[in-house]
Amino acid sequence: SEAKVGEQQQIQNKKLSQPAIFIPVDRSPEIQEARLKLPVLAEEQVIMEAVRENPCVVICGETGSGKTTQVPQFLYEAGYASGIIGITEPRRVAAVSMSHRVAKEMNLSTRVVSYQIRYEGNVTDETKIKFMTDGVLLKEIQKDFLLQRYSVIIIDEAHERSVYTDILIGLLSRIVPLRNKKGMPMKLLVMSATLRVEDFTDNQKLFRTPPPVIKVDARQFPVTIHFNKRTPLEDYTGEAFHKTCKIHRMLPPGGILVFLTGQAEVHSLCRRLRKAFPFRKDEEADTSEAMRKFKKAKQKKTSLPRIDLDNYSALPVDEGDEDREAGIGDEDDEGSDLDIGDDPEEKADPSIPLYVLPLYSLLAPEQQAKVFRPSPPGTRLCVVATNVAETSLTIPGIKYVVDCGRVKKRFYDRVTGVSSFKVTWTSQASANQRAGRAGRTEPGHCYRLYSSAVFGDFSLFSEAEITRRPVEDLVLQMKDLNIDKVVNFPFPTPPSAEALVAAEQLLVSLGALKEPPRTGRVKEMEQARLSCPITPLGRAMASFPVAPRYAKMLALGKQQDCLPYVISVVAAMTVREIFVDLDRPAGSEDESSKLTQRRARLTQMRRLWAGQGASLLLGDLMVMLGAVGACEFAGCTPKFCEENGLRYKAMVEIRRLRGQLTNAVNAVCPEVGAFVDPKMAPPTEHQVVCLRQIVLAGLGDHLARRVQAEDILDPKWKNGYKTPLMDDPVFIHPTSALFKTLPEFVVYQEIMETTKMYMRGVSAVEAEWVPELLPQYCHFGPPLESPQPWFCSSSGTVRCHRSSTFFRVGWQLPAVEM
Ligand code: ADP
Ligand code: MG
Repeated sequence: SEAKVGEQQQIQNKKLSQPAIFIPVDRSPEIQEARLKLPVLAEEQVIMEAVRENPCVVICGETGSGKTTQVPQFLYEAGYASGIIGITEPRRVAAVSMSHRVAKEMNLSTRVVSYQIRYEGNVTDETKIKFMTDGVLLKEIQKDFLLQRYSVIIIDEAHERSVYTDILIGLLSRIVPLRNKKGMPMKLLVMSATLRVEDFTDNQKLFRTPPPVIKVDARQFPVTIHFNKRTPLEDYTGEAFHKTCKIHRMLPPGGILVFLTGQAEVHSLCRRLRKAFPFRKDEEADTSEAMRKFKKAKQKKTSLPRIDLDNYSALPVDEGDEDREAGIGDEDDEGSDLDIGDDPEEKADPSIPLYVLPLYSLLAPEQQAKVFRPSPPGTRLCVVATNVAETSLTIPGIKYVVDCGRVKKRFYDRVTGVSSFKVTWTSQASANQRAGRAGRTEPGHCYRLYSSAVFGDFSLFSEAEITRRPVEDLVLQMKDLNIDKVVNFPFPTPPSAEALVAAEQLLVSLGALKEPPRTGRVKEMEQARLSCPITPLGRAMASFPVAPRYAKMLALGKQQDCLPYVISVVAAMTVREIFVDLDRPAGSEDESSKLTQRRARLTQMRRLWAGQGASLLLGDLMVMLGAVGACEFAGCTPKFCEENGLRYKAMVEIRRLRGQLTNAVNAVCPEVGAFVDPKMAPPTEHQVVCLRQIVLAGLGDHLARRVQAEDILDPKWKNGYKTPLMDDPVFIHPTSALFKTLPEFVVYQEIMETTKMYMRGVSAVEAEWVPELLPQYCHFGPPLESPQPWFCSSSGTVRCHRSSTFFRVGWQLPAVEM
């Protein structure tokens, strides 16, 4: 019986450690009824028990089981809102939409259940439940490492493995024990739509005792999978159109959800479907209350009454706002693509109208909320969505899924440091998630626009984003959070150690991180080399959405009124190829002579853009600048681009990037007041000199020097350049603006190997700028005995000292008085 008393005491203690106040929530009967159907409700006791007993808990449950909307409510009701209950989402659209939904379910104002995304939010002093993007919470950790305003943090959609989510989990695995130690208890919940959570739970570096995993069993109705016999390689949007038309005409009622990869595709398919299945006038007469209300609201909005004769569809035509607060790298970012022509045979007269709605991350919240409302009576709902509908949002009433099998992903080019978006095959796990969307309320069907053989070749799971992303960028972001020892950071999936070390070195050389000491004990120096703190310049760079080399150029750009030019050059370098390929082989002899003519003309044009004298020394970057300037001056038309050998898509993209980068610079440095002037004047000679210096400051590790005639022992070095990293010579390409000039010192954007190793994007620089702009590469002081310095002035005052790879060259620099 003593044991029993002890047990009771334990229970007593447990009760004491429970939050005392239970907060009643006043929900409407309809909401209450809908909630009771959610699988997560059945697990409320288990979840709250686990939360009480553990600092960290993992919850797994199918999309739509109620995790995002209900778990914050459980915590609130159980009295955990002594501080704020914070929920992070990888997507803005989910943060906004879920905060509205939870406020409504709880019958609370948005002053209490609020959201915060990058540039907007409705958080107040009364906020108790706060939905936010993961980036927002990261920035808050930077200001207050202990997150003292929060009592609970929920990391939602952890299965997406976004870089910020991964970093957050790593950070919180340290913050939570620290808070508990300091007597300010805090809970961490990690929620995932898949059961694959070992990276979080079986990770000694992350959690010493593995957190409990609670599985929510969702009712899932069977979904029949239909594979295509053939796999369209190009026009999957067209294929999606045909499939959707067929489903709508032939199959029983039930919503259709189409998965495409980006905003432009979504709009294009929406337009096509609306044309094929318009609302007819006679239907309009007996439209639902909702539609009449909408029309009234629309009329109110426009100040002058106006009759639109050919407006057949009474429902709104969503155009979305393409540019809404798009950070570079949003998954839906994409240049506009061409509208696909209509297929007349698909215009058959349907008996039921199709209610077509787009859905993607950057869609305005009001537009996006429509997918949750019942579609007008007598219509069939058809949502055309990006990946956002895969797990973040559950759309009610979907019975048919059309899956293009692709996803738009960010890729990183290790050579150029440029990240870009590419459409690739998705993973099997993700395709199955998409199929599952069809079986939420009744048995459904999933139409895959690819063959089962292609599916068999998909990877099993999507890999963590961290293994695909630039680490320089990531390391800089973490240093900006004052995480100095990035190598020791408990990443759920760590990037390779070599990648981290290389990133740290590059950032030091760019001046973004403080230089480690050059003397001392080897071991201490090693340590210091891997934990360099950030510099003020680094902080400025961290705020620009481009790779660090380019971020540095932007950070320096405001000097001497160079900013518009720096922004244009960075935008042009970030777009992979702005010129059409002049080397393309000709098909026939006739074509060949035409091609030769065209080549000559285009080469001449590029020379013209490069200019003479001072501006020529900016080289290929001046050609880019000239091309951007000329193209904008001509109104950026496809015709101008075609005639002048420019890629139209690239030019449109550059224009968009210029806008975004200008906003980014203004956000950091409002006093500059930068704006995009499409008709900017060419830079002055003075500015060109400054631009060359800015480019050198950014591309300093891509410095090359022409080998002097008297030093050439092997003929292969004729006109060759020596770079610190390679044993073999590299060359200036014949199409480069500097091919004839052959300056002694150049910086390049990247090296491409074709018949020879060629530098691309070459600019001439002056040797005497090196010690000033790249002091990290130089040694100032008495000559070093060994190893051989990279830069060595005749007077022995300037020497390169850093990384050993730089020691092999022994370039002469003119003496500089320091
Ligand atoms: P999970 O996070 O587990 O995927 P959610 O909590 O997002 O699940 O969704 C639970 C249910 O709430 C779903 O059936 C979904 O359709 C519904 N729901 C979510 N947001 C809204 C909304 N704004 N309007 C109506 N229903 C919604
Ligand atoms: Mg969710």
